[in-house]
Amino acid sequence: MEFSSKFSRRGFIRTGALGIGALTLSSRLAALAAHLEPNKKLGVALVGLGYYSQGQLAPALQQTQNCYLAGIVTGTPAKAVSWAQKYNIPQKNIYNYQNFDQIANNPDIDIVYIVLPVFMHKEYTIRAAQAGKHVICEKPMALNASDCEEMIAACKKAKRMLTIGYRLHFEPYTMEVMRLGQKHVFGKIISLENANGFNYRGNPNAWRLKKAMAGGGSLMDMGIYAIQGARYTVGQEPIAVKASQEKTRPEFFTEVDETVFWELEFPGGLKTKGKSSYNNNWGYLRAQAEHGSFELEPAYNYGPILGKTSNGPMTFPQVNHQAAQMDDFAYCVATNKPNRVTGEEGLKDMRVVDAIYRSLDSGKTEKILG
Ligand code: NAD
Repeated sequence: MEFSSKFSRRGFIRTGALGIGALTLSSRLAALAAHLEPNKKLGVALVGLGYYSQGQLAPALQQTQNCYLAGIVTGTPAKAVSWAQKYNIPQKNIYNYQNFDQIANNPDIDIVYIVLPVFMHKEYTIRAAQAGKHVICEKPMALNASDCEEMIAACKKAKRMLTIGYRLHFEPYTMEVMRLGQKHVFGKIISLENANGFNYRGNPNAWRLKKAMAGGGSLMDMGIYAIQGARYTVGQEPIAVKASQEKTRPEFFTEVDETVFWELEFPGGLKTKGKSSYNNNWGYLRAQAEHGSFELEPAYNYGPILGKTSNGPMTFPQVNHQAAQMDDFAYCVATNKPNRVTGEEGLKDMRVVDAIYRSLDSGKTEKILG
């Protein structure tokens, strides 16, 4: 398919993906509105029809302008039937995990969205790219940084775009925090603390509690947002980390972490504090800069996200994060523009995660490799 043929510039401002903080907020919001002609929408296939696909992504794909729910990949025949009916998906666009690679022959599917347990992200990202599809992979990108590197290399080799499901890059309050921090709007950041977590009382046999399937516990699932948050607010890459952990229910969290605390060290000496939990309902980011402060709370959920600065409350439109994220990626694919959340973003976070787990083992400060 010729992607550039799907692009219409008419009436819309597109500023390109220049990396976090490179644009003003208004130009970033305008960029989010960039759209393709209605008959040029790209087809998305969701792989894995669990909680996130069912509750967020499929509904968001009813609101997207640049892409639509064209196909599904599921191992559960009953889901294939109910989804086909609900979303009007033709039989030829429904795959299972055995015949997944045949998706290569399906021109209806432009983008494959991997919404599987973490241990499956690498395999399905690579298979999707080899099938000639562009890939959205959910967070955390993979079990470790070296798997992320393989995924990036495979997509590059196949000449397919890869993005990670970091929906907050398309959320206006978060975009404002990126600007405030990276542009030193209140001066340099002198302290930052953020946290993300929930009180996990679910199924004790869930994949999220198995180290081999999830890679870790609250740090992988929830802490990844706080690591991202520190990186995109400070606008630098951390160089070292010191971490500790706490377990109030060791009999429940036998394989994975429950609550993790860490301190990231940035070039220049700034140290930021982060924490993740499967035992606390946390979701905030607070930054103190030389001449003022800013914060988000809630900072990481599906919205509404709320925020204020030392000058008063922030007021931005609330958007559907997933719809904005998928629309932007589809636009980038169709117009062959770099997308702002590349695989490298996921890799950089996983390098931090790897170092945090090394620090939990060693009890020492660990360098973040890269
Ligand atoms: P889930 O357990 O509800 O769904 C996983 C799906 O994978 C299920 O449909 C399951 O049947 C399928 N699956 C296929 N093979 C499997 C196997 N061998 N073992 C277990 N399941 C298998 O999980 P979820 O909450 O939908 O999470 C999926 C991914 O989405 C994870 O990477 C998660 O971190 C991510 N996620 C992201 C957000 C976000 O805001 N970006 C929110 C929730 C989940």
